[in-house]
Amino acid sequence: THRSKVTVIGSGNWGSVASKLIASNTLRLPSFHDEVRMWVYEETLPSGEKLTDVINRTNVRELYSFHFFVELRDSNMLVFVTPHQFVEGICKRLVGKIREDAEAISLVKGMEVKMEGPCMISTLISQQLGINCSVLMGANIANEIAVEKFSEATVGYRNNREVAERWVQLFYTPYFIVTAAQDVEGVELCGTLKNVVAIAAGFVDGLEMGNNTKAAIMRLGLREMKAFSKLLFPSVKDSTFFESCGVADLITTCLGGRNRKVAEAYARNGGKRSFDELEAEMLQGQKLQGVSTASEVYEVLSHRGWLELFPLFSTVHEICSGLLPPSAIVEYSEKLPRSF
Ligand code: NAD
Ligand code: 13P
Repeated sequence: THRSKVTVIGSGNWGSVASKLIASNTLRLPSFHDEVRMWVYEETLPSGEKLTDVINRTNVRELYSFHFFVELRDSNMLVFVTPHQFVEGICKRLVGKIREDAEAISLVKGMEVKMEGPCMISTLISQQLGINCSVLMGANIANEIAVEKFSEATVGYRNNREVAERWVQLFYTPYFIVTAAQDVEGVELCGTLKNVVAIAAGFVDGLEMGNNTKAAIMRLGLREMKAFSKLLFPSVKDSTFFESCGVADLITTCLGGRNRKVAEAYARNGGKRSFDELEAEMLQGQKLQGVSTASEVYEVLSHRGWLELFPLFSTVHEICSGLLPPSAIVEYSEKLPRSF
């Protein structure tokens, strides 16, 4: 019988935890090959050890094994989970090395902006590798899932329900409930855009403005997420914003995410220390997605003449790039379109 073989591309905070979820299912379910492979961006740790050596050593005590690929020809399920700025470079290295019938899924929250306009990461993967790509997004702070606390996630798929079911099976556990929505763009845009709102929420925390202000920012942010998604892709469904990938991810990221945390520090320092500096110091090798996403969204907005329609998104970018002080996050009410 044909068993699906999985490779995970990425080994960061979420990449490692997602691999654990996956490996627990490949061991348990006969439709998957037990072994899960993981592509690791090799680094030398402060201890002098190589990252791959540490992962292999640590996993001896776990229930699954990882091997580091040279060849991907026997994997038919590819899980992409790296910071978004690295995906294009990785895909370039994978061209010609993968199976034609492989299916991909992206857990990456972010987008690229090309000459032709915005390009979602799942589209980038699809176009560069010539394979179909679904997405998985949700309220999924990796550290909490690592210790098996209950959460939910949403698989976004284009048109093949069977493929979506296979991805749900691969990730689903009693503490990680996965449902599928036929709205790949909506699901991916939710995961991408909430990182911009989380930066705004962090500013509010840094300025000690309280819960009402933060709730207002989350509400305005959700409205902009929906409006932006629908302007880009009219097919995006309203119901998607009520799935885990929508309002739930927005809430958890604005309460406990890394984007929020670093933006809070930025505001506390009155914008005097750069995001790059704070990211390096506070996240120790992990990467922020919200600052670059705000810049990518801003590029789309200015290109299309939509800046006035999105005062929250544009203000976040203007603060991050030093054009405005953090306090400007709540000084834009006169900029709100009347329909808000
Ligand atoms: P991370 O923030 O831990 O990323 C750091 C990793 O990037 C490092 O481990 C390193 O291996 C890798 N890296 C560094 N330079 C690289 C390069 N030049 N090329 C390739 N890889 C390089 O990553 P993460 O937390 O796993 O996040 C990956 C994606 O998942 C992001 O889009 C993020 O938004 C999303 N996500 C994260 C979480 C979370 O809680 N961490 C939850 C849901 C979704
Ligand atoms: P941060 O990258 O802000 O930590 O958000 C993680 C996340 O995407 C939770 O779903």
